Amino acid sequence: MSVTDEIKARLDIVDVISETVVLKKSGRNYTGFCPFHSNTRTPSFVVFPETQTWRCFGACADGGDMFSFVMKREGYSFKETLEALSKRAGVQLKSATPHQAEQDEQRHKLLELNAAAAAYFHNLLAGSPAATDTRTYLAEREIRPETIATFQLGYALDEWEALKSHFLERGYSAEELLAAGLLVERDDKPGYDRFRNRLIIPIRDTRGRVIGFGARALAADQMPKYLNSPQTVLFDKSNTLYGLDLARKHIRQTDEAVIVEGYMDVIQAHQREARNVVAQMGTALTEQQLKRIAPLANKIILALDADTAGNAATVRSLSVARQTLPKKYRATSTSRGIEVESHIEQEIYIAALPIGQDPDDILKEGLEVWQSLIDQAIPSLDYYETLIINNADLATPQGKSFVVRELVPVYREIKDNVEKTARVQRLARKIGLDERLLLAELKGGQPPSRASNRRRAPTPPPPEHPFPSESPEESSTVAFPDSEPSGLGLEDYCLSLILANPTALATANEVLEKEGVPGLTANDLKRGDNRDIFKALQLWAALETPKIEALVEMVDEVLERRLASLASQWHRRPSPPLEDVNQDLSTAILRLRLQKLNEQLGELKFLLREAEENEDLEHARRYRETIREYSRERKSLHDTRDALSLMGKRRTEANQFGQVV
Ligand SMILES: [Zn+2]
Repeated sequence: MSVTDEIKARLDIVDVISETVVLKKSGRNYTGFCPFHSNTRTPSFVVFPETQTWRCFGACADGGDMFSFVMKREGYSFKETLEALSKRAGVQLKSATPHQAEQDEQRHKLLELNAAAAAYFHNLLAGSPAATDTRTYLAEREIRPETIATFQLGYALDEWEALKSHFLERGYSAEELLAAGLLVERDDKPGYDRFRNRLIIPIRDTRGRVIGFGARALAADQMPKYLNSPQTVLFDKSNTLYGLDLARKHIRQTDEAVIVEGYMDVIQAHQREARNVVAQMGTALTEQQLKRIAPLANKIILALDADTAGNAATVRSLSVARQTLPKKYRATSTSRGIEVESHIEQEIYIAALPIGQDPDDILKEGLEVWQSLIDQAIPSLDYYETLIINNADLATPQGKSFVVRELVPVYREIKDNVEKTARVQRLARKIGLDERLLLAELKGGQPPSRASNRRRAPTPPPPEHPFPSESPEESSTVAFPDSEPSGLGLEDYCLSLILANPTALATANEVLEKEGVPGLTANDLKRGDNRDIFKALQLWAALETPKIEALVEMVDEVLERRLASLASQWHRRPSPPLEDVNQDLSTAILRLRLQKLNEQLGELKFLLREAEENEDLEHARRYRETIREYSRERKSLHDTRDALSLMGKRRTEANQFGQVV
């Protein structure tokens, strides 16, 4: 039995969901208000104990297993959900190798030590006479006691070995304290306390565990103003966003992530109810930080103070960084085959704060004032253009030359040719230069041709297998090009098709969208682990050359076995023609939708029968209405499926005809 199944067997979905949703028993099932869309009148959320599934029959129309519920509720990845639920179920997660087990053990110890250190600093802030000034400072900045508790703010004594002797007395070794970054190394040996006379801000991972500390100077002459934990086994500041553990849920809800510059800004923002706010870690925004936040929201806004926002180098780096965000791909069939065009789906925006104001100053005026500033944020590259143009005297040739010199290299890095050309044309008009001149300048910096972002559809990846060995029961085979065999679910089948043919996803979605049917999304999948694999596949399939190694890096290691089993479906098999795969995937997506609709209809009919038995007329009426609505949708999906299969048949016949001739 897999760990996932073991957890499902030990926990009851009703208990897990009841933690946050008030469920009322209704016949054999439970109903409540859906936690994922605002609804207060009629409970549209149903939990089915028999199948251990949940479903919303309201606006979000989502549903799935225990894992997908917790992932959605907490904004967790599958791995984080697995860790949380396994703890609850008392199921031990196995470490893959002895080396990994050792690492896990070390991490575990350091986490424990960090938690103890956070509590130690927090207690000092609360009770130590030495912390009086710090308490006054926090009071002056209007940080409330409950905020101090939520963020577990603390105080480090103005002594060289206060923390060291405290923890040595409690059985920790100096080496452990050093490994946690709490001591400074001296002559290759653990030395003295790293943090002295500072306000301590514990930094947490997405699961809320303390992984490091930020420390603000309290004396005027103390340098640096902010001191962070060094890089440790747990703490990598380029991969961490401060406050993400608390902000994540709100970022998902608002589909908007606001990044500010300092820890205190986050603390104050949350206190004033701007809860989708996180902070970069004292450095420029890194690619890893962007990747961490990109899956949570489409809109990423940097609220920069006037100085930073006016700094061309910073803004320029953001304009380049936006290239790493996921792109939406559009596939088109041409006489030369399938071609794919990219469009940036996500964007980094910049909101410049008024000179001399920090986020708290604005939030003091009210949440609406803050939000309107955020709403007015400008895409980073537009912002950069304006910054450069405003700094140049366009009346002079030198001014024009300056603009071209600054902007053209940035344009050159834009992968999307349509956007690239459009921007150059617009700039030419703005500064009064010949467009052809600028286009030539654009080409000047790189070898001719090959600069195109249009690319031929890559062939299916070679059968390389950098995966751990798959378990025998998982490696059932697929008979291609017929439909998936029993044993391999439709969800798995779709994923395995995309895995074998990364471009098929864009093409299949395009075909469906043309028929008025939305493309495949993570919400179509019931299993939580499949949702995470699909999200990784989406990003991976959009890469220039989707290599299987890249995919392995994109998924959590806990999903590698599932990935291996999906990949094994195509192992040792000649790759089918791409056209067949595209057709197969669009049909499979349709069948997945039909399957879901049929399940929903089954559930609804069951609910209707119960409501009728209980003479609950209001509910019965509503269920009947929804059944009618879903039946109409099913009819139209059937029509689309028929139309697509007809197209497929014609193509096959045409191919056969071609071969005969
Ligand atoms: Zn809902």
